[in-house]
Amino acid sequence: MGNVQVAVVIPVYNEEENLPELMRRLMPVMQGMNKTFEIILIDDGSHDDSLEILKSFTKDEHVKVVELTRNYGQHSAIMAGFSVVQADIVVTMDADLQNPPEEIPKLVKVMEEGNYDVVGSIRKGRKDSFLRILPSKIINIVARKITGVSMRDWGCMLRAYRSTVVESMIQCHEHATFIPALATVFAKRIAEIEVEHEERYGGKSSYPLSKLINLQFDLVASFSDFPMKLIMYGGILMSFLGVCFGIFLAVARLAYGARWAADGIFTLFAVLFVFVGMQFFALGVIGEYIGRIYVEARKRPEYVIEKVHTNNQREILI
Ligand code: UDP
Ligand code: MG
Repeated sequence: MGNVQVAVVIPVYNEEENLPELMRRLMPVMQGMNKTFEIILIDDGSHDDSLEILKSFTKDEHVKVVELTRNYGQHSAIMAGFSVVQADIVVTMDADLQNPPEEIPKLVKVMEEGNYDVVGSIRKGRKDSFLRILPSKIINIVARKITGVSMRDWGCMLRAYRSTVVESMIQCHEHATFIPALATVFAKRIAEIEVEHEERYGGKSSYPLSKLINLQFDLVASFSDFPMKLIMYGGILMSFLGVCFGIFLAVARLAYGARWAADGIFTLFAVLFVFVGMQFFALGVIGEYIGRIYVEARKRPEYVIEKVHTNNQREILI
């Protein structure tokens, strides 16, 4: 089977309220582009009726549904979608209609005309709460720093990737990955365009603050050794200050005599505690990396596909 021209990959986690409306809007957009296409929906272990609704969509030959065995998280679900996709241009988006499907042709057009490898998107007039936007702002700054790519909005999942980039990404087998950042490792030409952003159509976000903090750590620890460097430079600075303080104590001891120095012993204790604290912190960070090496070394699958549902009578078993 040859490649289709455009595929859309959508991770789905408890989105029963949004799926019918998503398809109602997405289908005409895809048909209107006059290109061969496929729609890949990944059920990321939903607890509601999402999977049943998704399966009903497979009556249409353009739709494939990837059923995962449990909830693996948004980025792993997209990776599972990438593993079955067969298209020259792959567009990712959310299932909650915060990314309007009507913007897909724009992304595809920019990619084709500019011969780009990745086309990202900036959410115009973002419709999210302040508490959701603030962590995104921090993620954007960090992502820009560590990837060295000056994209403005990393969190927006409405993105287009060329098949070569997708193929390279599925070779990675990395756990806890952040797809927009991973893509920049393999992409030479990157563009970014403005897209509309809407309120969630139904249901609620599955990203509480704790998950966002995790994502932030994934991003930093998976793509850079910046935290380790920070500890190293912090350590050098602390030692330097320690030496200065030692010289100060010695001078003061000579000037004011032994009694003064004995009284100052508690200051030394304080300094010691700071150092011990720093060491524990450093060990913690190193432990985090070792933990990651352990996870990678076990080579457990990042996701497990239960089944791929298509309109073929025979369901494809992976
Ligand atoms: N999602 C997923 N697995 C998860 C969490 C989310 O597949 O564990 C999907 C979800 O169905 C949606 C997209 O990822 O299509 C973005 O999730 P959400 O709208 O909850 O995040 P937010 O818009 O608040 O960033
Ligand atoms: Mg959302």
